[in-house]
Amino acid sequence: MARVLRRSVVWGRLPDGAPLAFPLIEAEGERAGPTALFTGGIHGDEFEGPLALLDLARVLEAVDLRGRVRIVPFANAPALAAGTRAGPLDGVNLARVFPGDAGGGPSARLAAALWALVAEADLVVDSHSGGTDLAFLPVAGFYEAGGGVGAEAAASSRAVAEQTGLADLWALPATPGVLSLEAARAGVTVAGCEVGGRGRARPSDVRLYRDAYLRVLAARGMVGPEALGDVPAARPARLLRGDWVASPAAGLWRALRPLGAAVRRGEALARVESPLGEVLAVLEAPVDGVILAERNLARVREGDPGLLVAAAEDLS
Ligand SMILES: [Zn+2]
Repeated sequence: MARVLRRSVVWGRLPDGAPLAFPLIEAEGERAGPTALFTGGIHGDEFEGPLALLDLARVLEAVDLRGRVRIVPFANAPALAAGTRAGPLDGVNLARVFPGDAGGGPSARLAAALWALVAEADLVVDSHSGGTDLAFLPVAGFYEAGGGVGAEAAASSRAVAEQTGLADLWALPATPGVLSLEAARAGVTVAGCEVGGRGRARPSDVRLYRDAYLRVLAARGMVGPEALGDVPAARPARLLRGDWVASPAAGLWRALRPLGAAVRRGEALARVESPLGEVLAVLEAPVDGVILAERNLARVREGDPGLLVAAAEDLS
């Protein structure tokens, strides 16, 4: 049986001296092997990954493990307390400041403390969701070669994304400061996943994530088939490519097509309307593809994420 230890890692102090910390669950196997790191709660309004990571820790308590699994269920405690995507201490999006700076502001310090774990990992899976404002289809993101990501890191990133068994793969846009991109640039095997959102943690979405983690550990021989239990075999069916289209106006967001819809280039997918009923903007599909993510919060500001339409390639 794996030995599972739970502790807090202090990375800073509030002005009154109270510690700022993230939770770390470490499962140590009886046999030597790789170190896998699972992170969740980089954003304070995303809950599917964190709950699934707590489920993963409970599974690991009852199975044989080869190597070591490190789990950070909720990385961003200040943002969790505030219920916001960004950290309330500095208003910074933690997913833009990796690999961090131990001498910097709160989010940079937190990133540096997390990066110490990334640097020791052979494999990283970073779990996100749409948070309160957005919603995603279940998707396993990976990096293609280029932009500082080497061919080997790109191939291993895609391999681990495939091993999650989530419904779709997503060739992630290279956004600097994101944990997964910076890990890939550093040569670490990494997937960055998105499941759900709307400020929820639907049991079915939590389950998707937990199953994905177990598939990855089984595929790498870190847990045996007994750990999989009732986890169904699965592999991604499509490869998606695309990034967010920002809202060109502030106002009320009226979705015209639902999440997951197959759409044609130029098709009207959403409108921004003023409280007087003027149509301020119409968002059209930039490509033929599928709506991979959408707004949940129907109040939109100029420049906020509007829609994510991805071109889809069948993998079957
Ligand atoms: Zn996120």
